[in-house]
Amino acid sequence: MASRILAISGGKGGTGKSTVAVNLAILLAENYDLVMADLDVEDPNDHILLGVQLQNEKPINIMLPFVRYDDCIKCGVCGEVCDTGAMLISPNGLPYVIPRLCSGCMSCYFACPTKAIVRGERTIGYTYETLVQLDGRSFRLVTGVLREGEEHTPPAVIAAKERALLTDGDFYLIDTSAGTSNSVATAMDGSKLVLAVTEPTPLGLHDLELILQLTSKMGIETWVIMNRSGLGPEDEHDRVVRNYGSRIVARIPYSKRIVESYVKGRPIVLLDPSSKEASMFRELASMVKEVME
Ligand code: SF4
Ligand code: SF4
Repeated sequence: MASRILAISGGKGGTGKSTVAVNLAILLAENYDLVMADLDVEDPNDHILLGVQLQNEKPINIMLPFVRYDDCIKCGVCGEVCDTGAMLISPNGLPYVIPRLCSGCMSCYFACPTKAIVRGERTIGYTYETLVQLDGRSFRLVTGVLREGEEHTPPAVIAAKERALLTDGDFYLIDTSAGTSNSVATAMDGSKLVLAVTEPTPLGLHDLELILQLTSKMGIETWVIMNRSGLGPEDEHDRVVRNYGSRIVARIPYSKRIVESYVKGRPIVLLDPSSKEASMFRELASMVKEVME
């Protein structure tokens, strides 16, 4: 397992998690052989913020059961063990699979007493590996993308994370999806440090507390980044962060320059390297380097 793994997480509703992730990736790529993983598989946008096209597509396939009706004794066990509702038992006792609901867990396959269930496959999404080259820095970006209409994010997160960790590098930066779902925990697992991005709003506070609860249960050191600092009160955020033994390591003010960088698809550390915002990201990158050594 790679030793330098940093995860960047955040609350729902565009807290600026990906903006922090791409700016840090560019700065860390100056010192490390960096691999970035965009595991926000329902809405990956790091490649858009970096202004690159996704490359090297590979399908993410999961098991899809097929029933050989000649061997089926209508015992109903497959329906009982299926916890997603994908294996329906019809009134005549024969099972039917609803592919969209199937997570590919294989419980029905192993439980069938007559081996009437055979293993098929279906594609739920894709992973990509893209070489990012920007102003003399280069790194690999591995991106997971769930197909439209698919509901099971964990297999896509696992596939993209595996591809990222199998890519040669000495620093892995993982951009998780927002919130505290199983997919977020899967993405963070194994990280040495989590950066939790929040904002001074009641929703930001609510989501931050959930993230801190999760990382404290997982035993991962967590630093907090206050994005759009100054837009609202931060006292409660400070209190919650202290309660979890964490700290706010950066307060990035609301900034038109960052919005401009977002619109132009060029991260602020490249668009305006001498700006106050870029120097805050550089300071943050130095702190991260120190703790990850
Ligand atoms: S593979 Fe799992 S989710 Fe899919 S039908 Fe079988 S038991 Fe249900
Ligand atoms: S477990 Fe096997 S035998 Fe029983 S209903 Fe399902 S497919 Fe048929």
